[in-house]
Amino acid sequence: MRSRNVLLVLLVAIFGLSIPSFASDLALIHAKIYPSPTDPPIADGTILVNAGSITDVGPGTTIKVPPGATVLDCHGLVVTAGFWNSHVHILAPELLHAEKRSSSEISSQLEGMFTRWGFTTVFDIASVLDNTNNIRRRIEKGDIRGPRILTVGEPFYPKGGTPIYVKGFLEENHIPSAEVESIPQAIQRVRQQIKDGADGIKIFAGAITANGVLPMPIDLAKAIVIEAHRAGKPVFAHPSNAEGLEVAIQSGVDVLAHTAPMSGDWSPAFAERLKSAHMALIPTLTLFDVEAKKTKVSQEENEMWIKQAVQELKAYSDAGGEILFGTDIGYIDQYDTAEEFTLMSRAGMSMQHILASLTENPANRFGFSQRSGRIAKGMDADLVVLDGDPATDITAFSKVHQVIRQGKVIYPAH
Ligand SMILES: [Zn+2]
Repeated sequence: MRSRNVLLVLLVAIFGLSIPSFASDLALIHAKIYPSPTDPPIADGTILVNAGSITDVGPGTTIKVPPGATVLDCHGLVVTAGFWNSHVHILAPELLHAEKRSSSEISSQLEGMFTRWGFTTVFDIASVLDNTNNIRRRIEKGDIRGPRILTVGEPFYPKGGTPIYVKGFLEENHIPSAEVESIPQAIQRVRQQIKDGADGIKIFAGAITANGVLPMPIDLAKAIVIEAHRAGKPVFAHPSNAEGLEVAIQSGVDVLAHTAPMSGDWSPAFAERLKSAHMALIPTLTLFDVEAKKTKVSQEENEMWIKQAVQELKAYSDAGGEILFGTDIGYIDQYDTAEEFTLMSRAGMSMQHILASLTENPANRFGFSQRSGRIAKGMDADLVVLDGDPATDITAFSKVHQVIRQGKVIYPAH
């Protein structure tokens, strides 16, 4: 007996605490699982997780839970791959000047905005790059609980095109505006931001100013896109209106950051044009409701704006265009995602299409298809446990029970 104990002590000394990890860390059992937007659901399924990755998924009858695993009983619950929100801003006042803020303060802010709604990855498409880098470094170190953050850092505005709705905010927070005047200056900035860690570039193809929508000169937009693509990075565009949409299409932009109610109805032919330009669309439908309420327009006008945005999403979705879920959280503070799902469903998107916009589409589009977007062996263990089934109630995508990122619970069951 004594010699066996000595051997154990020696093994622990050599291998540290990793010995028991031959067993799985985590097992989710008795869940209804949607492995991907296209695979049929598994009625009573098991997911095994080890060292941050999924090691097995299938019907509970075929998978043995290893001894020592932490078991989460998901009876009556639904599990999908972790969600992506492809349009957010790390600009909430509670997230600025991050170097002066405690990790717990930032963790709880990130939970309220992102993780408690199921987002295990977010794409920040305009913020202060230094500040966002500070936060994501602390997340990756494990000091802050939060999602994977991809960022574009500072956006590119045309000269005189700092949007009217961000001017005051930038001044209040002493953030210099990021307008570009010349092609060489823009190219230099693209290179610098990518060198500093940006995962993409965002342009204001059409910027809303006090004097109407100011389009970005097409040569400038093209130069920015070419330089970003040279580094293998995607470009997002804020279109605003028909002219901004033209700038986005003609310059070779990859992702429209919004629908554009000011542009009027999208015809099937226009949707085909967007599709042949390999454009992805982020609807941000809730945004138009929030903005209309802010400006106190009539109920009729409010509904007209939403109807217009829904028409555009419907046109693109019906054409088979790629949709990425995104809500502009951090600019708007309506964190609850229920309204967005209701409006997406009004645009004719099925539960499977909406799930694709939350998972597989962004993972594929942004180069994470080997790690994210599906529940399958070898993928990151990014999982959302839902209290309801979105197949019968689309708002169940917002009824989040628990969230796991890389095998760790980042939003505990409530
Ligand atoms: Zn935005």
